[in-house]
Amino acid sequence: MRERLRSYTDDYRLHTEGGRQYLTFPKLDEYRELRHLFTTRHGGVSSGCVGTWNFGARDLDTPENIRRNYEILADTLCLSPDRLVVSDQTHTVNIRQVTAADGGKGVTRPKDYRGVDGLVTNERQLALVTGHADCNAIFFFDPSKQVIGLVHSGWRGTLGGIGREMIRLMREKYGCSPADILAGVGPSLCQECFEVDPDVAQAFFDEDASYRAFALRRGDKYYIDLKGIIRHDLLACGLGEDHLMDMKLCTKCNTADFFSHRGQKGKRGIMAAAMALI
Ligand SMILES: [Zn+2]
Repeated sequence: MRERLRSYTDDYRLHTEGGRQYLTFPKLDEYRELRHLFTTRHGGVSSGCVGTWNFGARDLDTPENIRRNYEILADTLCLSPDRLVVSDQTHTVNIRQVTAADGGKGVTRPKDYRGVDGLVTNERQLALVTGHADCNAIFFFDPSKQVIGLVHSGWRGTLGGIGREMIRLMREKYGCSPADILAGVGPSLCQECFEVDPDVAQAFFDEDASYRAFALRRGDKYYIDLKGIIRHDLLACGLGEDHLMDMKLCTKCNTADFFSHRGQKGKRGIMAAAMALI
């Protein structure tokens, strides 16, 4: 299914600033103390299959371009690049509690951590950043305790429950109540575009029999609704139905605006999800 970005729907808002285009959740835009966004392909300095706003794919782009793209991201967030903190994604369910001491890691200085697929903080002027090209970004915000979190939840992270892990950490380390937490899923594969072999589908069914409701079988392939599973899990954690958001955008269905690992057969850039308390 091909779809074009609209400037505004109930589920997302498209911001255009010069050549930059990024998306936000209308419900999170209401909080003045919060800045958040999910980038599109448009707004950076890279070209070709990683054109133009690429934050990864280091084998297909130059370090200078990627550095410049992060600077443009920082500028969009009204923060300096040394206030960004970038994940180190390896499909784990590990979440790092980020502090000011982490500022700039992955942008202006090297990361000193490995295997971090989620970031959480209650500190201000510090932007959490994760990278995406089909995998789900889940944004978390507790307006009551003023805590933000961001995770990379591909199929392995979703199967492992990184969203549930974020809720556990927000409860235990920051005193959050699940009923206060808002959570939203950015652009990622729709069910039709997430075709898997039976062994992957079986891994989900073994994890939780109720996940069968989110899988369709066609021939010897399965189609799994990862966003549906994330939503199911967050509701089970105690989040309110009206606190769950979904941009309802598929990266593979719209490779004009999004990088897509499957849509571009691996020759793709990486988009950024970012979130900061101001
Ligand atoms: Zn799709």
